[in-house]
Formats: sequence, structure tokens, C-alpha cells
Amino acid sequence: MILVLGGGVTGLAAAKTLDAAGADYLVLEREAEPGGWCRSISLGRYAFDFSGHFLHVSDPGMLEWIMEVPGIPWRSIRRDAKVWLRGRMTPYPFQVHLKGHDTAFVARCLAGFARERIRESVHGMQPPESLAEWFRQRFGKEMCDAFFYPYNRKMWRTPLSRLGYDWTGWSVPVPRFEDLLAGAAGEIRQGFGYNASFHYPARGGIGVLAAGLSRRMGDRLRTGAKVVEVDLRARRVRTSEGETLPYGSLISTIPLPALAACSGGLPLAARRAAEALKWVKVLAINLGIRAPGATPGHWVYVPEKGYPFFRVGFLSNVARSSAPPGCASAFVEKSFLSGARVDAEGEVKTALRGLGRMGVLRRGSRIEEIHPVMLDPGYVIFDGAREGAVSLLRREFGLHGVHLAGRYGAWNYYGMEKSMEDGIRAAREAVGTRGR
Ligand SMILES: Cc1cc2nc3c(=O)[nH]c(=O)nc-3n(C[C@H](O)[C@H](O)[C@H](O)COP(=O)(O)OP(=O)(O)OC[C@H]3O[C@@H](n4cnc5c(N)ncnc54)[C@H](O)[C@@H]3O)c2cc1C
Repeated sequence: MILVLGGGVTGLAAAKTLDAAGADYLVLEREAEPGGWCRSISLGRYAFDFSGHFLHVSDPGMLEWIMEVPGIPWRSIRRDAKVWLRGRMTPYPFQVHLKGHDTAFVARCLAGFARERIRESVHGMQPPESLAEWFRQRFGKEMCDAFFYPYNRKMWRTPLSRLGYDWTGWSVPVPRFEDLLAGAAGEIRQGFGYNASFHYPARGGIGVLAAGLSRRMGDRLRTGAKVVEVDLRARRVRTSEGETLPYGSLISTIPLPALAACSGGLPLAARRAAEALKWVKVLAINLGIRAPGATPGHWVYVPEKGYPFFRVGFLSNVARSSAPPGCASAFVEKSFLSGARVDAEGEVKTALRGLGRMGVLRRGSRIEEIHPVMLDPGYVIFDGAREGAVSLLRREFGLHGVHLAGRYGAWNYYGMEKSMEDGIRAAREAVGTRGR
């Protein structure tokens, strides 16, 4: 028997692979429905996701695999993202769309970028010591001070000098000088960055992905089954209902610190390593707004301190069916260190004031629905402890037939595509087969 812990998209992708391989498996999901953070909800006349979840796919094989999941009315959508900075709304990515800012600021940004290129040509690109230095080397001090530093501080809630940069590869587009100049002159660089286009269902929200993946799993997907204990030596799992289930292999997609905390049989060093893992949680406040003000594009990055969120999104600009005519289904995202106490009601009030200052809410706008969700964990913090801790835990769990998979199971910065791909890999390992 192969047990899969967690019925988010990673666990479901693993289960679908096990199913196709004819393996004996069972998915244990603590919530009443599968999907994890990729769930959707209808409230009154509005539809929301738990937070903006747009599917960016880079691997053609994964695209084919995802498109074969039954019953999903996918649409391919060209990204329309913005940056709200210094009272101006410019296209994303900020670094290649400086046009629209005042000339003195643009000149300082270009000079800062050029300084780094000159430094690079004289000394070569030195290995950066931190995330702060990684950004400075690539974009120059001026763009960092204006955008990259404040945005990333808001998101990570951790001094950037203490963070690593190994997550940046696919998600932070680094321009050439020509790109910067063209953007400063007003050219729109549509295709720039990893998420230049994305897929999203025409109806039903991102939750239809989990519904499609879990179709036909029947009683091999058990919901309301929270795993509270894993006995690594005896290869047994206990659920909150008191049921004990034996396994030959186990695929865990639940957050790695939580898995370690409930696993008996881990050496002390591994338990300590798990306790040192850090993360931020994200409060996503979904809003149904009648008669909104400006609702620019699909989502907007908001780096400045004066606004209490780091991103605002408009689901109704992605899927019109998520709000009635003249209304918007919107969301804002704010992160907190994992242990922080959060006053959700107070956060909603400050978020609404911030949206007012941005012009998203205007006189006459009415909030018809409010749906705050805490995504905990939200983002894994890439500090000095993460890499060593994760490889030690992977090794220790591996000795007991446990495969770690997905964004939180493998404790990484994976989007949905990479998480599902990791679930497929873990399932293949568990049944001892190879190839997609
Ligand atoms: C704010 C935010 C925005 C994001 N936006 C995007 C985006 O636009 N595009 C994108 O590709 N990705 C996005 N992501 C990433 C995406 O959410 C993840 O890649 C994906 O959800 C990972 O799926 P998963 O199944 O690994 O984890 P999860 O979705 O967390 O699923 C894990 C499952 O395990 C269950 N579980 C936990 N503990 C237990 C237990 N003890 N027993 C049984 N079950 C348990 C949970 O209930 C959950 O269903 C975003 C993430 C965040 C935080």
C-alpha cells in the first residue's frame, strides 16, 4: 500500500500516476474537499480562489499531461500585470517598463544598471552573498531601493541580507541593457518573464483542476482524514479519527515541519533541522466589489510601505464569470512571519483603506462579500538553514520509504506545475518506475 499524505494538486498528481500504474494507494486529506491552496469558493454572486492561482507551465510534457486532465475548460491568457509605484501604474516587469516615471528617476535607474554592468565587465559577476546583493548586482541600487528591496521585504518579512537567492532563477526576469532602454523609451515587453502567459479555467475557478485530478478516485481519496502520527519504524500512519494504516511507501505533500513534528523515529538532528525551517504565511482577502474604481489588469505588484499588501489581483479580469456585470472579484495578499498573531478584521479595514488610496475603491463602491483566507504556510523562507535541513530530512525520511513532494512537502518555491511534476516523480519513485 502506498499512502499519499495531502490531497492538494501534488498529492492528486501523485495519486493519478499511481492509479495509472495500477498501484494500491490511498490519499489522506484533512479537509472536507481536496485541492489544498488550489481551491475555489462561490459566495453570493461572486467566485473566489483561495488566492490568485494562475497556471504557468514551462515544460511541454507537463502541459500535455495537464491538458489531458478531464473536464477543465482551460483558456490561455496573455498576462496583463502592473506595478503601482510612486503614484504611477506601469506594466510589469518594472525593470523593463520604466517609461511613465519621471525622467530623473528613469535616468538614475539606467545609470545604476549601467554601473553594475561596468562592474561586471571589469571584475566578472561575483557570487552574491545574499538576496540583497543578488538583486543589486542584477538591477543596480536605484531599482533595488525603489522596487526590489521594498517588495521583497514586504513578502519575506526578513532582512534580505539574511536570505539566499536560489529560488530566483525562474521567477525574477533579468533584462539586457537593450531591454531596459527599449522599455524606458516606451516599448512594451510583453513576452518578458516566466509568466508572460498562463492558463486559467473559463468557469469554476482553479478548483476545477483538483476536481478533474480526483475524478474517479472514489474511496481512494479519503477526506476529513488528518494525519496526526507517522511511525517510521513500524511504517504506520494514525489519523485524527484514531484509525491506523500500514504502508509500504509513503508520499508526503504536507508541510515538512509538520510531518517531522508528528513522525516518531526521526533522529534528534533531523528533528532540530525541521524546527529550524522558517516560512511566511499569507493572508489573502477576497473581495466582491460593486461599482469598483480602477481595476487594472490581472494583478498589480505594490512594493511601497504605505500600502498594507504586496499584491492586488482582479480575478474577474481573468474569468469574467467570477463577478456580476459592473462588479469585481478582487483579492489582496499580505504576508506575516509564521508565528505572528493576525487580527484579520483589522487587516481587512487597512486593506480597504489601501485600495481606496490606489483608486480601486471609489465613492459609491460597495463591498458585497469579504472572504479572508490564511494560507499557512505560504512561502518557504530561503535562509542559510533551509538547504542543509531539507537534504538531511529527505535522507532520513527516505530511509523509511517516505518520499517528500510538492511545494511544502519538499519545502521549496514551487508553483502548481512544478508541484504536480514533483508529485508525479515521487509516485514513480514509489512504484519504482521511470519516465513520464
Ligand atoms: C499566496 C500564494 C499564491 C500562489 N499563486 C500561485 C499561482 O498563481 N500559480 C501557481 O502555479 N502557484 C501559485 N502558488 C503556489 C501553489 O499554491 C502551490 O504550488 C500548490 O498549492 C502546491 O500544492 P500542494 O498540493 O503541494 O500543497 P497544498 O495545496 O498545501 O496541499 C497540501 C494538502 O495537504 C493537506 N494536509 C495538510 N496537513 C495534513 C495532514 N496532517 N493530514 C492530511 N492532510 C493534510 C492540506 O489540507 C492540503 O490539502 C501560490 C501560493 C501562495 C501561497
